[in-house]
Amino acid sequence: MSNEGFYGEYGGSFVPPELKNVLQTLADTFEKFKGNPEFNEELDYYLREYVGRPNPLYLAEKLSHQLGGAKIYLKREDLNHTGAHKINNTIGQVLLAKRMGLKRIIAETGAGQHGVATATACALFDLDCIIYMGEEDTKRQALNVFRMELLGAKVVPVTRGTKTLKDAVDAALEDLVMNHQDTFYMLGSAVGPHPYPAIVKHFQAVISREARRQVLAKEGRLPDAVLACVGGGSNAIGIFADFIPDQSVRLIGVEPAGYGIETGKHAAPISAGKPGIIHGFKCYLMSDEQGEPLPTHSISAGLDYPGVGPEHSYLHDTGRAEYVHITDMEALDAFHTLSKVEGIIPALESSHAVAYAMKLAPTMSKDSILIVNLSGRGDKDVQQIFEMMRDKQ
Ligand SMILES: *Cc1c(COP(=O)(O)O)cnc(C)c1O
Repeated sequence: MSNEGFYGEYGGSFVPPELKNVLQTLADTFEKFKGNPEFNEELDYYLREYVGRPNPLYLAEKLSHQLGGAKIYLKREDLNHTGAHKINNTIGQVLLAKRMGLKRIIAETGAGQHGVATATACALFDLDCIIYMGEEDTKRQALNVFRMELLGAKVVPVTRGTKTLKDAVDAALEDLVMNHQDTFYMLGSAVGPHPYPAIVKHFQAVISREARRQVLAKEGRLPDAVLACVGGGSNAIGIFADFIPDQSVRLIGVEPAGYGIETGKHAAPISAGKPGIIHGFKCYLMSDEQGEPLPTHSISAGLDYPGVGPEHSYLHDTGRAEYVHITDMEALDAFHTLSKVEGIIPALESSHAVAYAMKLAPTMSKDSILIVNLSGRGDKDVQQIFEMMRDKQ
């Protein structure tokens, strides 16, 4: 293979030969359609009419004033249909599946957010939808299982291994090998073997395409920094994408430090992991001596993954992007602050990015500009927070 799908030493496609051909077909289809005017017209139509794009770039004036430093703008992915950025990717991929004539869609999900976004796209396009989900996760996220079922999807509990996201990905990849004649695997983050990281970035880049235009219209200049939380890295690479060539713009990815990096109970592979291979690609990975992925912890289920996108691994090594970390408690504090001060309840994942912006803004001058990607809304998290607060009393 050529350098295709590599970001420096990261990425690639470390998969069995049966899967190589399937992924090559997907890569060829993506190359064929990503610049195709008809394809993009259809994509734009659904992003506008169904997802509700463009969403606002909102100046959080009260929060900025309270912190006494940089102006903080929020990119409102939380206002998208289904409440997060994930729908940008599933609408894009479902249109690829349609071009390939594949009518059976499979996906993995951890917390259930990608499962819901996939089931939504499948309902819209009348496709069979099978979601692999670790059995443990189906219990923890019973409401999301019900949502997927309402949308017409079949949720398959995965009972092997730790019965969580990692095992769900393995099950989905096996299904793809067996059923590739009629099946499309819709991957949910900027991870996995080539061409998935490139596909997911392409469809999430709409976030920075809009944000860049919006900040130029409002401020007449580029921001000083752009911030996003990093799980697998799809919302972060989406808001970074169009700013990468703008060397004056700091790109800041915020990893979940859980109980604290020093406790080992976190999900911050760039901050505290080392290069390794997971799910067919190379990246920074939380792994043991044998290179096996370690268990992770984060207050936000959507950030709970031991690996990270290959392009983030590369942007870290080259220094183009900075990666920092925020603990559960700091994220929780930001969750409450944004809710009270701006009347916006953020997803716990997004709260990590808000928390770092709250640290950074006061160190900057009042004419500085930060853009925080508000990747999702917190409605899905209020039950968890409610129970945590009740148990504390
Ligand atoms: C899934 C999710 C994330 C984490 O995924 P990335 O691929 O890192 O973006 C972040 N925020 C929300 C709201 C999510 O649902």
